[in-house]
Amino acid sequence: ILEIRNLSKSFTASGTLEKLSGKTKYVRAVNNVSFQLNKGEVYGLVGESGSGKSTLARTILQLTKPSSGEVLYKNQDLTALKINEMRKLRKDLQLIFQDPFSSLNPRKTVGQILEEPLRIHGVKKAAIRQEKALALLEQVGLQTEHYFRYPHEFSGGQRQRIGIARALIVDPEIAILDEPVSALDVSIQSQILNILKALQKNLNLTMLFIAHDISVVRYISDRIGVLYLGEMMEEADTDSLFAEPLHPYTQALFSSVL
Ligand code: ATP
Ligand code: MG
Repeated sequence: ILEIRNLSKSFTASGTLEKLSGKTKYVRAVNNVSFQLNKGEVYGLVGESGSGKSTLARTILQLTKPSSGEVLYKNQDLTALKINEMRKLRKDLQLIFQDPFSSLNPRKTVGQILEEPLRIHGVKKAAIRQEKALALLEQVGLQTEHYFRYPHEFSGGQRQRIGIARALIVDPEIAILDEPVSALDVSIQSQILNILKALQKNLNLTMLFIAHDISVVRYISDRIGVLYLGEMMEEADTDSLFAEPLHPYTQALFSSVL
């Protein structure tokens, strides 16, 4: 459903040394990455801090322009689309962040927050929006009375549930999750992972699940790709990757946690 082809993203380094020398230096955050997501699967992307995971997510979604490469979604190249063409597709490709608090409007109730994307995407009837919002609240394990509460009244785990509900309320084809449980403690992590797993199955959602924590990625993913210094080191089914990690970096990654 989504094919990433030779995607690269460079940034211009803007450190003191570069300024003094007057030479332009490029940081290759994402380097010639290719992989594909099949409909309904969970693809895990693992890599240490700075390996380019978030940059990759943002370039896939066209939130930053790739330096080169293609992103094919249902056979359209997203990198070649005009802004208003891409806007129409935004609904299909939702991003879930590490800490949704920063993006939850403190002046809006959970109900308003959940209904906003529906309104933006043209659901005119308030009753329908409310019905969907309440249904989704329940699916992420929150109660009906939470509908009238404000973001600051929730714990980190509950806020992540709200973030998940907000992303899924528009029925996306693909959800890209960038470290969705990294800010949570371990018991809450597993609650959120189980909710994500259940929703993913029910909705037949395609997921790109990004994390630095290999055990989290293992728990949820059908397939895993390993990113190191912006490059895809190897990819395999979750079981075969763990049974037989081929790349030295993957081996090192595993031995550091097991
Ligand atoms: P983390 O696990 O810490 O979130 P990450 O794998 O998501 O790390 P990125 O945030 O994608 O890594 O960063 C990859 C590289 O790109 C880093 O070297 C970073 O400094 C660089 N980088 C990211 N965004 C920018 C930017 N806007 N300008 C310049 N360099 C950037
Ligand atoms: Mg990141």
